[in-house]
Order: sequence, then C-alpha cells, then structure tokens
Amino acid sequence: MQFSLRKCEELCHSKFCHTCSLFDQEIKCHCGKTVLKPKSKCLKILQKCYFSCKREHECGHPANHWCHNDDECPPCTHPVSKMCVGKHMSFDVPCHVKIVCCRQGCGKFLPCGVHTCQRSCHSDSCQSFDQKCTQRCNIKRYKCGHKCNLVCHGSEPCPVTTCEAIIKQQQQLECDDEYRVIQENKNLTQPFSINLDAPRQLPTVYTEFLRDYAKKNLEFVQTIERQ
Ligand SMILES: [Zn+2]
Ligand SMILES: [Zn+2]
Ligand SMILES: [Zn+2]
Ligand SMILES: [Zn+2]
Ligand SMILES: [Zn+2]
Ligand SMILES: [Zn+2]
Ligand SMILES: [Zn+2]
Ligand SMILES: [Zn+2]
Repeated sequence: MQFSLRKCEELCHSKFCHTCSLFDQEIKCHCGKTVLKPKSKCLKILQKCYFSCKREHECGHPANHWCHNDDECPPCTHPVSKMCVGKHMSFDVPCHVKIVCCRQGCGKFLPCGVHTCQRSCHSDSCQSFDQKCTQRCNIKRYKCGHKCNLVCHGSEPCPVTTCEAIIKQQQQLECDDEYRVIQENKNLTQPFSINLDAPRQLPTVYTEFLRDYAKKNLEFVQTIERQ
C-alpha cells in the first residue's frame, strides 16, 4: 500500500492521531518489516525501520542505509574507482560523486590546434568560444633559429617580423662593452683586498706579485683620477 497520508507534525505519540492516523488498515514501511496496526500509533514510527533499504539502485550497488519511506534514496557512498574528467588518472570516490578532477594540468589541445590547455584538470570547456589563445608561438624562425615568440596565430604561417632575440642580443652587445670595463676594474681590486685580509697566509712570491699589482693598480687609479 502507498503512503498518501499527511505527515504528523506533532511529537511522536502513542494515542490515536487525528491528523495522521485516520486509517483502518495495517500500514507497513517500505520493506514491510515494520508494521503499524490500524488506529494504534503515530505514523512517525514508520520513519524508524531498522532494516536496510531494499530499493533498486540505478548504480546497482546494494544500499548501505536504513529502510525509508520517502521515494529518494540518500546518495550512494559505495567506493568506486573513477577517472578524472581530464582522463589523467583514476581515484576511489563515493559512488554519488559525478565529477572528479585531479591536480594535473589539463593538457588538451586548444581550438588554435597548436597549444595545449594550461589549466589544471577541469570539467568545463578549456576556453570560452570567444576567448583567444594568448600563448606564444614556438615555431623556429627560418633565419636565426630562435622561437617565433609572437602571440598565437593558429595554423597561419609565422608573420615575417624582426626577431626579438636578435634585437635583445644587439642591445646586450652594447651593454657588454660597459660591463667588461667594470669587470676589469673589479679584477684589479680583488687580489688587493685578499692581500689586506690575510697577508701572512699568502706565499711570498704571490705577495710580491700582488705588491707590484697593487702599485700598477694605484697608478691606474691615479691616472683615472687625473682625467
Ligand atoms: Zn522497513
Ligand atoms: Zn552506487
Ligand atoms: Zn534507499
Ligand atoms: Zn585529471
Ligand atoms: Zn594557441
Ligand atoms: Zn583544459
Ligand atoms: Zn632570432
Ligand atoms: Zn609563429
């Protein structure tokens, strides 16, 4: 028999219930093991059947919960191995968990067809349809062999531009000249400072050499100062 009776809103009571116990037949719980005699007790007793649920489950797992009279079973907690949405690896999760994401990078090809998704494992689409790929082109330049490095241009051939790496190199060369001068000055002052720090530990020859060096260095400094 079906439960078309209203639920009793009062606390469970042993006396005849006017709102919910207007029945003259036996009432059974869903599994049928908990029986309510006609006009005897509050319907609330039916919510406490301590036998396991016998309903069929879509997933096919036996229920690990008590018999219940409401139609819907609680979520199935049976552990199952499921693949993450990005198909990277599988995990043991409760049966009712539908979406499993791992911590790996998505790695799927983006609509540009050149680059792969850099997001971590996800269930939605990698890009919204109006979004453009902002990754850099990795194709080698024909002339210098450096990467194209322009913002993604999909399957279009690389536009002819001056290589940024070459521009940087040229700037570096100009800077390098200044850099070398600074380095040379450093080399002159370094042995001098070692001599001052630990003069006794150094071999005599080396110290003499340094003295000469220091003299030259002094001359050098003086020459600079005079200029
Ligand atoms: Zn039952
Ligand atoms: Zn299940
Ligand atoms: Zn159930
Ligand atoms: Zn994954
Ligand atoms: Zn791209
Ligand atoms: Zn993705
Ligand atoms: Zn280049
Ligand atoms: Zn390119």
